[in-house]
Amino acid sequence: MNSMWKSLRVPGIAIALFAMVAGCTTSPTGRQQLQLFPEKQMAQMGSEAYENIKKETPVSEDPAVNGYVSCVADAIIRVLPEGREVPPSWEVTVFRSDQVNAFALPGGKIGVYTGLLRVAENQHQLAAIVGHEIGHVLANHSNARLSANYATMAGLTVISVLAGASGAVDDQRTMMALLGLGAQVGVLLPFSRSHESEADEIGLELMAEAGFSPAESVELWKRMAEASDGQPPEFLSTHPSHGTRIRDLQDQVPRAQRLYDASPYRPDCREVIPEAVNAEDAG
Ligand SMILES: [Zn+2]
Repeated sequence: MNSMWKSLRVPGIAIALFAMVAGCTTSPTGRQQLQLFPEKQMAQMGSEAYENIKKETPVSEDPAVNGYVSCVADAIIRVLPEGREVPPSWEVTVFRSDQVNAFALPGGKIGVYTGLLRVAENQHQLAAIVGHEIGHVLANHSNARLSANYATMAGLTVISVLAGASGAVDDQRTMMALLGLGAQVGVLLPFSRSHESEADEIGLELMAEAGFSPAESVELWKRMAEASDGQPPEFLSTHPSHGTRIRDLQDQVPRAQRLYDASPYRPDCREVIPEAVNAEDAG
């Protein structure tokens, strides 16, 4: 983490110029995005954040639950494209928590909460979530978000220099605060709507190629919307606008269905619905 923060102290003007000449890349769906941070650095951040989450949240030791989640994740991982930006290996952890949540971090770190397995009711729906989260990683969304925040700050530095302010964002802690980063959670902040749509698109394709029924993604998001009645699940609060998302997915299902039909795979993961962690939530 230290080297990361040191690099953030490069003067803003230099970074802003660098961004213009070298930082713009094309995402898997053809969107241009700014990526200032080397993959290696992003992977390191992802790993550190992952280890911290593991310290804070109980990890499920239940072999059936772990077997189920790994079966679905592995089925998707085996159809991932090879490439410089695709993590060479992936780690999957099931967290014992009623949170309806899941994530994938740069460097190939996947987390699934047992609460999610109570909403995603079959392997196809779980695959929709895992595909979506892996989609964020393949499209380098964490890097893009961090870079955009950083470029904004670099721009402000230019302004503050022009305005005669001295070293306003030179201090490391100030910079982190301005970036909206906790020391470790920087890669876990909510994604933008365009990142969400892109992750949905990539995820749908991945699940279909892996042999999971793409139409189930629509069912999943309907169930997520239902689960959000009353108190919105954590997952929905960081994954906005499920009405639009369901419509977008419905539009994309026919194309994904053709990928599914052509896929040689038909995973058969034994579904497990874990007990609620807190008895009062068992409903
Ligand atoms: Zn997402």
